Amino acid sequence: MQKVRVLIIGSGPAGLTAALYTSRAQLSTVVITGKLLGGQIATTHEVENFPGFPDGTTGPDLVENMRQQAEKFGARFVYESVTAVDFKNGSPFHITTDSDEYLADSVIVTIGANPRKLNVPGEAEYTGRGVSYCATCDGYFFRGKDIVVVGGGDSALQEGIFLTKFANRVTIIHRRDSLRASTALQKRAFENPKISFLWNTTVEEVLPNENGVVHGVRLRDVKTGVETMRPTDGVFIFIGYDPNSAVFGDQLQTDASGYVLINDRHGTNVEGVFAAGEIHDSVFRQAITAAGDGCKAALSAINWLGAREDQLQALDEAAPAAAGV
Ligand code: NAP
Repeated sequence: MQKVRVLIIGSGPAGLTAALYTSRAQLSTVVITGKLLGGQIATTHEVENFPGFPDGTTGPDLVENMRQQAEKFGARFVYESVTAVDFKNGSPFHITTDSDEYLADSVIVTIGANPRKLNVPGEAEYTGRGVSYCATCDGYFFRGKDIVVVGGGDSALQEGIFLTKFANRVTIIHRRDSLRASTALQKRAFENPKISFLWNTTVEEVLPNENGVVHGVRLRDVKTGVETMRPTDGVFIFIGYDPNSAVFGDQLQTDASGYVLINDRHGTNVEGVFAAGEIHDSVFRQAITAAGDGCKAALSAINWLGAREDQLQALDEAAPAAAGV
C-alpha cells in the first residue's frame, strides 16, 4: 500500500495538467494512466488547435511533452488501470489498481469519456485514416472532399453543419426516418445546401483504398435489407459518448448520462475528490478545455490539502512507512 497526497485517475490533457500543478506544488502525485497514456488525444494524428504550436503537433507528441513536464516536477506515472475505489469513508481514499493499492489524501478524477463506436469492420482499422470522432480536430483535413456523418442527434447535426466549412458534400446517415436533434439544428441542417440525408440506413463496413485510407462505406437499408456501396473520403461518427464513470459505482453523483457532477471548484459530492475533463464535460470536449479543467481541479485540490496540512503531517508521522512516496 502506497500513500500519496494526490492520486490522479486518467492521463489525458486534464490529468497531465493536474499532475503538473500538484507536483509543482510539492505534493506527492501519482497518475494512474489507464490503458492508453494521453487518452483520446493520443490517437489524434495531427493537432492544430492546441495553443503554443504554430506549426501544429501530433497527439502523441503533445502527450509525451505534457508527461515529461509533469515528471520533471516529481509526478510519478503508473501504467495501470484503476479497478476499484473506496470514497465512502472519506479521506484518505483507498484506490485499487491492476496490481497495487494506494491511500490518497485527495483524488482528481480525469478518466474521460469515449465516443461510442459503431463496431463495424474497418472502423477501428481506419480511425485516423478517414474515420474520425472529432470534427474540430479533423475537419480541416477534408477540404473539398465528400464525407458522411453517422448519427441523428445534436452532435451529428452540429458537427455535420461545422464540417460543411471544409467538405464539398456532407451526407448524414441516420438509422431511423426522424432525427433526435433539436428542431433549431434540424432547420439549419435542412437549409444547408451542402448537407443531404440518407434515412433508415446503417453503415455496415468502412472500406479502404489500396493506400489503406477510407474510400467508401457499405450501407444497409434497414427497411428493405438492401445493401449498397457508397464512395466517401471520410466517415465521421457521432452516435453519443460514454463517460467512464462505471468504476465509481454510486459513490460519485452523476447526471442521467453518467457524467460526474461538480461544483464551481471542480469538487464532486465527496470532499477531497475533484473531477476534470470529459468525465464531467459533455459539451466542449477539447484538449485545451480539458487541460484548463485539470488546472482548476488541481488548484482546488492544492487549496483543500493546504487547509489540512498540519493534520496530514501528523497522520504521516504516525505511519511514516506508508507515507513514503
Ligand atoms: P445522442 O443525443 O445520444 O444521439 C445519438 C444519435 O446516434 C441518435 O440519433 C442515435 O439514433 C444514433 N445512434 C446511437 N447509436 C447508434 C448506432 N449504434 N448506430 C447508428 N446510430 C446510432 O448523442 P449526441 O448527439 O452526442 O448528444 C449527447 C448529448 O449532448 C445530448 O443531450 C445532446 O442534446 C447534447 N448536445 C447538445 C448540443 C447542442 O446543444 N448544440 C450539441 C451536441 C450535443 P436514435 O435517434 O435512433 O437513437
